[in-house]
Amino acid sequence: MSARQFTLACIAALALVWGFLPEFTLTVMSYIGLYAMVAAGLVMLTGVGGMTSFGQAAFVGLGAYASAWVCTSPLAAAWLPAGFPPALLPFVGLVLGLVATYAVARFLGAVTLRLSGHYLPLGTIAWGLSLYYVFGNLDVLGGFTGMSGLPPLTLAGFSLASPLYLGPLIWAVLLLALWALHNLLDSREGRAIRALKGGRVMAESMGVDTAHYRIKLFVLAALLAAVSGWLYAHLQRFVNPTPFNINIGIEYLFMAVVGGAGHLWGAVLGATLITLLKEQLQDWLPKLLGASGNFEVIVFGLLMLFVLQRFADGLWPRLQTFSGRWLRPETRRTPLAVSPVQLEQRVLPPAGQVLLDARQVTRRFGGLLANNNVNMSLKAHEVHALIGPNGAGKSTFFNMISGVDEPTSGEVRLMEQAMQGRPSRDFAALGLGRTFQHVRLLGQRSVLENVALGAHRRGRKGWIASMLRLDRAEEAAILAEARRQIERCGLGEFADRPAASLALGQQRVVEIARALAGQPAALLLDEPAAGLRHLEKQALARLLDQLRSEGLGILVVEHDMEFVMNLADRITVLEFGEVIAEGTPAEVQANPRVLEAYLGGELNGGGL
Ligand code: ADP
Ligand code: MG
Repeated sequence: MSARQFTLACIAALALVWGFLPEFTLTVMSYIGLYAMVAAGLVMLTGVGGMTSFGQAAFVGLGAYASAWVCTSPLAAAWLPAGFPPALLPFVGLVLGLVATYAVARFLGAVTLRLSGHYLPLGTIAWGLSLYYVFGNLDVLGGFTGMSGLPPLTLAGFSLASPLYLGPLIWAVLLLALWALHNLLDSREGRAIRALKGGRVMAESMGVDTAHYRIKLFVLAALLAAVSGWLYAHLQRFVNPTPFNINIGIEYLFMAVVGGAGHLWGAVLGATLITLLKEQLQDWLPKLLGASGNFEVIVFGLLMLFVLQRFADGLWPRLQTFSGRWLRPETRRTPLAVSPVQLEQRVLPPAGQVLLDARQVTRRFGGLLANNNVNMSLKAHEVHALIGPNGAGKSTFFNMISGVDEPTSGEVRLMEQAMQGRPSRDFAALGLGRTFQHVRLLGQRSVLENVALGAHRRGRKGWIASMLRLDRAEEAAILAEARRQIERCGLGEFADRPAASLALGQQRVVEIARALAGQPAALLLDEPAAGLRHLEKQALARLLDQLRSEGLGILVVEHDMEFVMNLADRITVLEFGEVIAEGTPAEVQANPRVLEAYLGGELNGGGL
């Protein structure tokens, strides 16, 4: 039995026994479904996207209050046309709730997501508290007593007044959401989302607008919470501010983290465990201790500490390892069943055309002049090497000509455009591909996934298309392109391994493949041969030679002089941030200043 078949079997079994379960169980199951919906949003936001939010309960409240207001307020009744069918009121409430949540989340996201480190979670606590008091203090929303008398949901004339009938709707919405989120993660957009946690500089260089993606992810999680709140309001038929308080927000976060922060099903597991646990503690503790009081909160907190200590990645991965003994692992459904579409193709500039032009580029770090009036250009159809001792300013210069950093003064032109103040994704869009001296890969993801991220900007399908699986043809083309580049770089046998399992030298080559997947016209390689063995270096030199003959301009920083002298058409030598020589390999080797800088040793020792 495969994991997918097992999941479907569980869902079918649940559907079959639903009608026979006792009322109390149905109620608990319905709440678990509602909580899991919020937790699934948090898995995306916190576990996958790396943004911690304590404030999700407030969005649940927005969804709940919007519908409560539409269904019960005389003011809302006055706004709607006379004779508006009452059965449709909750759906007006749903739309209002989603619109309000969208607007509030957009705004809060724009404000809070700029914060970094601990300030972001603190920010979410701040607005989580504020919204709670907004609900409590607005008279139109019933103040702290709340609003009662909400109608049940009615679907096609059928009233969903009890958990027996509303529960299946809740679980259908939850399963649909999990399916859509799963699809989203397994797509071009999903690769970009996964890079938000710890790979933002890299993702920007691949053309991803990470700030925008963060806000979108935040809004998505908020909308899921609002839907949960809407269903909650019509299950309870009553709302007050208490369930949208900050401590419930913390509980939601617990559910996501305990379940397994990076796994969607972990949200269901976490919601189930924590709901049942609270239920049991409330029953047993007073009996055990012989006194009444909120002891369950204390025990609950201690248990959480234990789980977080003991299972840092949450419980879902453990469950997966355990079930792996009798469930076949999911074989990746190859999306190649659909005929791939053509990805965006770039027409490379003719040989000799200047691709990149740096003029008088200066970069200061406080009192340190890391680059001082550096001039350098890169043409199509050439390999240009940038050499110099450690600390000469080569990586600094790389960052400035790729948009990762801004020059203190001077100008960078790419494809004849002034690039001042533009983000690195604009550089990528104009045809610049790069690797990083300190490898920036998503270590847990496969080599294939990492390289496919390089082709990000060549695809078009967005979040909705990905959720609905309408991106399969494009995805097939992207994966095929990634595989092609991996094979071309000689790493075919490693394509499906986690990137972190490769040797460091090979990881550098993965970065080259990733840059190539973006079909660059100019390729910037920071120490690509470091950590490679002799034969691997030769293979790399052959690859770069071939890329040059295809018309690329390649700028390479490298310490291996034999490699550089054999490959480069032109060499620029940096020392203490300044260009001390520029010319062909022969000219540079004969330059007295260069010989002095290298003390005669390294240049000649390179076997030339
Ligand atoms: P290279 O790549 O040629 O070895 P780098 O460009 O990494 O040299 O560094 C050039 C100089 O700038 C070094 O002295 C380094 O310590 C300094 N430097 C680089 N980045 C920063 C930074 N972000 N802040 C302060 N100093 C920096
Ligand atoms: Mg460097």
